[in-house]
Amino acid sequence: MKLDRQKIFLLLAGAALVLALPRLAPAGAGVPTLGPASLRGTTLILDAGHGGEDGGAVSVTGTRESDLNLAVVRRVDLLAGFCGIPTILTREDDRSLHDEGAETLREKKRSDLENRVALVEGTEGAVLLSVHQNSYPDGRYSGAQVFYSNEALSGAWAEVTQETLRTALDQENHRLAKVIPDSVYLMNHISCPALLVECGFLSNPEEARRLETGEYQTKIALSLVAAYLQAQGGGGAEP
Ligand SMILES: [Zn+2]
Repeated sequence: MKLDRQKIFLLLAGAALVLALPRLAPAGAGVPTLGPASLRGTTLILDAGHGGEDGGAVSVTGTRESDLNLAVVRRVDLLAGFCGIPTILTREDDRSLHDEGAETLREKKRSDLENRVALVEGTEGAVLLSVHQNSYPDGRYSGAQVFYSNEALSGAWAEVTQETLRTALDQENHRLAKVIPDSVYLMNHISCPALLVECGFLSNPEEARRLETGEYQTKIALSLVAAYLQAQGGGGAEP
């Protein structure tokens, strides 16, 4: 079965990840601690951006951002499970998380985001990783970009994630981790460590094609989990 083969591949990728971790650690930081103790009390909330009527950005080939976000999140979830990281997914299929009473698209979007906030804020020891894809009118731009909120909690994790994505995906990507703009509702209404990762630009034909392949999605997922483990084990910024 296709799914089983995909799962086996992801587990092997997870094993490779664990073996590669010491090399991902910056010089002088020491080998990250992989024992369960360093991860205790922390639940990684995996948020596949958009869903349902809100497909987010659309690639030059017509693929919806919401589907790619979920494909990456599912891979992160499998790899996180392999590494013993507890996870919660905000959505596991193609849907919006709005309340029944919401009618207009605007109301549904607002309700969807409020429910995502409530899930994060209601989870003890939550750490939020929100996955999105970028888009820009000019198709030249490319490259993964990490945004963060709550700098004291997230800044070090954001930097190691940006660096890991650069190393794994595109060494020419010189983007730096940035504070999330005020306009992003979810990221501005939570109090825990939180990253929003724009995995790449759907408006760039070459990058869009890469983002649509399972192999590239797995590379992104591996990078996100490796960076998470490193940030957890490497003694990042204290609250
Ligand atoms: Zn998005």
